[in-house]
Amino acid sequence: MMEHLQNLKVAIDFDGTIVEHAYPKIGKEKLFAFETMTELQKHGALLILWTFRAGKELDEAVEYCRKKGIEFYAINKNYPEEEFDNTISRKINADVYIDDKNIGGFPGWSRIWQELSLYDELELEATRRMNRGKSILRKLFGRKVKDEGQI
Ligand SMILES: [Mg+2]
Repeated sequence: MMEHLQNLKVAIDFDGTIVEHAYPKIGKEKLFAFETMTELQKHGALLILWTFRAGKELDEAVEYCRKKGIEFYAINKNYPEEEFDNTISRKINADVYIDDKNIGGFPGWSRIWQELSLYDELELEATRRMNRGKSILRKLFGRKVKDEGQI
Protein backbone atom coordinates (compact mmCIF):
# COMPACT_ATOMS: atom_id res chain seq x y z
CA MET A 1 0.00 0.00 0.00
CA MET A 2 1.19 3.45 -0.98
CA GLU A 3 4.51 2.27 -2.40
CA HIS A 4 4.10 5.08 -4.89
CA LEU A 5 5.06 7.51 -2.12
CA GLN A 6 8.50 5.88 -1.78
CA ASN A 7 11.10 8.40 -3.03
CA LEU A 8 8.41 10.72 -4.35
CA LYS A 9 9.98 14.19 -4.36
CA VAL A 10 7.53 16.62 -2.88
CA ALA A 11 8.47 20.31 -3.01
CA ILE A 12 6.65 22.28 -0.34
CA ASP A 13 6.34 26.03 -0.05
CA PHE A 14 6.44 27.56 3.44
CA ASP A 15 4.55 30.87 3.71
CA GLY A 16 0.87 30.39 3.01
CA THR A 17 1.31 26.62 2.69
CA ILE A 18 2.84 25.15 5.86
CA VAL A 19 1.90 28.25 7.86
CA GLU A 20 -0.40 31.21 7.28
CA HIS A 21 1.14 34.22 5.54
CA ALA A 22 2.99 36.38 8.08
CA TYR A 23 6.38 36.83 6.42
CA PRO A 24 8.97 37.76 7.72
CA LYS A 25 7.36 36.32 10.86
CA ILE A 26 6.07 32.78 11.06
CA GLY A 27 2.32 32.50 10.79
CA LYS A 28 -0.02 30.06 12.45
CA GLU A 29 0.38 26.45 11.37
CA LYS A 30 -2.06 25.41 8.64
CA LEU A 31 -4.46 22.66 9.67
CA PHE A 32 -2.92 19.17 9.18
CA ALA A 33 0.28 20.51 7.59
CA PHE A 34 2.60 18.64 9.96
CA GLU A 35 0.43 15.55 10.24
CA THR A 36 0.42 15.24 6.44
CA MET A 37 4.15 15.87 6.04
CA THR A 38 4.89 13.32 8.78
CA GLU A 39 2.68 10.75 7.08
CA LEU A 40 4.33 11.40 3.71
CA GLN A 41 7.79 10.92 5.22
CA LYS A 42 6.64 7.75 6.95
CA HIS A 43 5.81 6.35 3.52
CA GLY A 44 9.20 7.30 2.12
CA ALA A 45 8.45 10.60 0.39
CA LEU A 46 11.37 13.06 0.15
CA LEU A 47 10.22 16.46 1.35
CA ILE A 48 11.95 19.48 -0.12
CA LEU A 49 11.38 22.89 1.43
CA TRP A 50 10.89 25.17 -1.57
CA THR A 51 10.63 28.76 -0.44
CA PHE A 52 11.73 32.26 -1.38
CA ARG A 53 12.97 32.67 2.21
CA ALA A 54 16.72 33.05 2.66
CA GLY A 55 19.20 33.78 5.44
CA LYS A 56 17.78 34.34 8.92
CA GLU A 57 14.14 33.99 7.81
CA LEU A 58 14.92 30.69 6.14
CA ASP A 59 16.77 29.40 9.22
CA GLU A 60 13.78 30.32 11.37
CA ALA A 61 11.41 28.42 9.10
CA VAL A 62 13.66 25.34 9.09
CA GLU A 63 14.01 25.47 12.87
CA TYR A 64 10.25 25.87 13.30
CA CYS A 65 9.63 22.73 11.21
CA ARG A 66 12.39 20.81 13.00
CA LYS A 67 10.74 21.55 16.35
CA LYS A 68 7.52 20.12 14.96
CA GLY A 69 9.34 16.96 13.88
CA ILE A 70 10.01 17.67 10.20
CA GLU A 71 13.55 17.50 8.86
CA PHE A 72 13.60 18.24 5.15
CA TYR A 73 15.47 16.06 2.70
CA ALA A 74 16.69 19.22 0.99
CA ILE A 75 16.11 22.96 1.28
CA ASN A 76 15.78 24.97 -1.91
CA LYS A 77 17.75 22.21 -3.65
CA ASN A 78 17.11 19.01 -5.55
CA TYR A 79 19.18 16.87 -3.19
CA PRO A 80 21.19 17.56 -0.02
CA GLU A 81 24.62 17.84 -1.70
CA GLU A 82 23.60 20.06 -4.58
CA GLU A 83 25.62 23.28 -4.92
CA PHE A 84 24.05 26.12 -6.82
CA ASP A 85 25.81 27.87 -9.58
CA ASN A 86 24.15 31.05 -10.79
CA THR A 87 24.77 30.18 -14.41
CA ILE A 88 22.28 27.34 -14.31
CA SER A 89 18.56 27.35 -13.70
CA ARG A 90 17.45 27.12 -10.10
CA LYS A 91 14.31 25.26 -11.01
CA ILE A 92 14.12 22.10 -8.97
CA ASN A 93 12.90 18.83 -10.28
CA ALA A 94 10.24 17.61 -7.89
CA ASP A 95 7.47 15.14 -8.73
CA VAL A 96 4.81 17.17 -6.95
CA TYR A 97 4.62 20.80 -5.77
CA ILE A 98 2.52 21.95 -2.86
CA ASP A 99 2.15 25.70 -3.05
CA ASP A 100 -0.63 28.11 -2.12
CA LYS A 101 0.00 29.94 -5.39
CA ASN A 102 -1.08 27.05 -7.58
CA ILE A 103 -3.90 27.71 -9.99
CA GLY A 104 -7.09 26.92 -8.15
CA GLY A 105 -5.67 28.07 -4.81
CA PHE A 106 -4.66 26.01 -1.82
CA PRO A 107 -6.86 22.92 -1.43
CA GLY A 108 -5.92 22.31 2.22
CA TRP A 109 -3.74 19.56 3.64
CA SER A 110 -6.46 16.97 4.16
CA ARG A 111 -7.31 17.19 0.45
CA ILE A 112 -3.59 17.02 -0.44
CA TRP A 113 -3.16 13.89 1.67
CA GLN A 114 -6.24 12.34 0.07
CA GLU A 115 -4.95 13.02 -3.42
CA LEU A 116 -1.41 11.84 -2.76
CA SER A 117 -2.39 8.70 -0.89
CA LEU A 118 -4.88 7.76 -3.59
CA TYR A 119 -2.63 8.86 -6.41
CA ASP A 120 -1.94 5.40 -7.85
CA GLU A 121 -5.59 4.36 -7.58
CA LEU A 122 -6.68 7.54 -9.32
CA GLU A 123 -4.11 6.98 -12.03
CA LEU A 124 -5.32 3.41 -12.50
CA GLU A 125 -8.90 4.61 -12.71
CA ALA A 126 -7.93 7.23 -15.31
CA THR A 127 -6.24 4.53 -17.40
CA ARG A 128 -9.29 2.31 -17.07
CA ARG A 129 -11.53 5.18 -18.15
CA MET A 130 -9.27 5.93 -21.11
CA ASN A 131 -9.37 2.29 -22.20
CA ARG A 132 -13.14 2.26 -21.85
CA GLY A 133 -13.25 5.37 -24.04
CA LYS A 134 -11.02 3.69 -26.61
CA SER A 135 -13.20 0.61 -26.81
CA ILE A 136 -16.28 2.81 -27.29
CA LEU A 137 -14.48 4.64 -30.11
CA ARG A 138 -13.39 1.34 -31.60
CA LYS A 139 -16.99 0.14 -31.57
CA LEU A 140 -18.25 3.38 -33.09
CA PHE A 141 -15.46 3.55 -35.59
CA GLY A 142 -15.83 -0.14 -36.50
CA ARG A 143 -19.57 0.29 -37.11
CA LYS A 144 -19.03 3.45 -39.16
CA VAL A 145 -16.53 1.69 -41.41
CA LYS A 146 -18.95 -1.21 -41.85
CA ASP A 147 -21.84 1.18 -42.65
CA GLU A 148 -19.76 3.03 -45.20
CA GLY A 149 -18.79 -0.28 -46.71
CA GLN A 150 -22.45 -1.00 -47.35
CA ILE A 151 -23.06 2.28 -49.21
MG1 LIG B 1 3.44 30.78 -0.54
